[in-house]
Amino acid sequence: MDVREHLKYGIHKFQTEVYPKHQQEYIEAANKPQTPHTLVITCSDSRIDPELITQSGPGDIFVSRNVGNMVPPYGEMVGGISSVIEYAVSALKVQHVVICGHSDCGAMKALLKPESLEKLPTVRRWLRNAEAALSVAKEIATPDAMLPSLTEQNVLMQMNHARTHPSVAGAIARGELSVGGWVYDIEHGDVKIFNEQKNKFESTLGAGA
Ligand SMILES: [Zn+2]
Repeated sequence: MDVREHLKYGIHKFQTEVYPKHQQEYIEAANKPQTPHTLVITCSDSRIDPELITQSGPGDIFVSRNVGNMVPPYGEMVGGISSVIEYAVSALKVQHVVICGHSDCGAMKALLKPESLEKLPTVRRWLRNAEAALSVAKEIATPDAMLPSLTEQNVLMQMNHARTHPSVAGAIARGELSVGGWVYDIEHGDVKIFNEQKNKFESTLGAGA
């Protein structure tokens, strides 16, 4: 099937099968200002579905995606992600910002294999936002564990970068915002959440509510 037909088929299926079941929810969402509780910053990878894995409906989560779920430190560049953070935190008053990395991330793999970026100069420059995470992973991980370690260290690094944004720092100081880190394991449906006390990512599989 032609890609455009494939997409239209999906839209039609949404309109005839999904929308009718949730019509009231959509009408309500469309007729009041959005008040998402969380800003999710995750990778553009097509295998991640933030609404699905958090079972969120319209209006629940504000989502921003980019290659490698990165947040340049404040002042480095004004762009999509810095505007998203400022808007979500200062205007929408989200209570939580979560950086969500994932298994088998192409951006993390490229960091470990820089020669693969020869023909991708823009991506190569963007990935500099994770260079410090790469240094840490190289110090602490065995070669076998390099990719998962880098994925975790990148999430932690981007959490730190997020805290350099004045809107985030101010809201944290007022006790109105927290910053969290997740790693989504696509194969197993696990979402590992960073536990600050224990200084490690913990599986949520079988954890219950
Ligand atoms: Zn990725």
